[in-house]
Amino acid sequence: MPSSRPAPADAPDFVARQALALLAHQRLCAEYGAPFLFFSDKDPLSELISALLSHRTKNADSHRAFQQLRATFPTWEDVRDAPTIDVQRALSACTWPEQKAPRIQEVLREISRRCGDENLPPCSLDFLAERPIAEARAWLESISGVGPKTSAATLLFSKLRLPAMPVDSHHHRVAQRLGLIGPKVGEGPAHALLAALLPPDWTAQQVYDHHEALMYHGQKCCYYHRPACQRCVMLDVCPVGQATVHPGS
Ligand code: SF4
Repeated sequence: MPSSRPAPADAPDFVARQALALLAHQRLCAEYGAPFLFFSDKDPLSELISALLSHRTKNADSHRAFQQLRATFPTWEDVRDAPTIDVQRALSACTWPEQKAPRIQEVLREISRRCGDENLPPCSLDFLAERPIAEARAWLESISGVGPKTSAATLLFSKLRLPAMPVDSHHHRVAQRLGLIGPKVGEGPAHALLAALLPPDWTAQQVYDHHEALMYHGQKCCYYHRPACQRCVMLDVCPVGQATVHPGS
């Protein structure tokens, strides 16, 4: 298993990757028009549920499923206590509703238990804003089914606006091809490694811009199949791009 522990901050390779991450930030933010508007201002509990629905689902489909869930059940307590089959039906717009319905109900039950009473409504997660980010993420990730992408999305995309960086499949692919992370580092471990390359005092807007810029680049240029390296603004510093454009050199 590749290590997810960031390299020491004074390691030469780490310093080079830090510089490359900042260069990618500058060029890709300019290319795609940062600063980007936040697309959501949900409360953190709603954002957590929304993030769970978005796993391996198109944004439009998970958005429809979230809207249908809210229209069917007025409160999160109602979702938690409903027959699972009814929740599953409300989630029919997204992938794997039969898995996501019981998982979401269990997450809501777990949050209620942590609030002190499993019969009370799940508590607001606004209190996470008062905690250091690492602690807030650890609190979320200790809930079964919540990984680093979901915890970061909950803290950054919700109205909490905390500088925690999610890494989706596009962001991950671009980072890997540029050499910001090794070729065998998976999406989960990539979160800590990529966050460690960014200045620790960055605001939520800067972290959001970085994530969005790399994600857009994966969607609009660094495609999974046949990346458009010839027109890529990162070509001169990208090992995969150089090998693609100048094979054998
Ligand atoms: S040069 Fe090619 S592989 Fe590298 S980031 Fe650009 S599109 Fe992706």
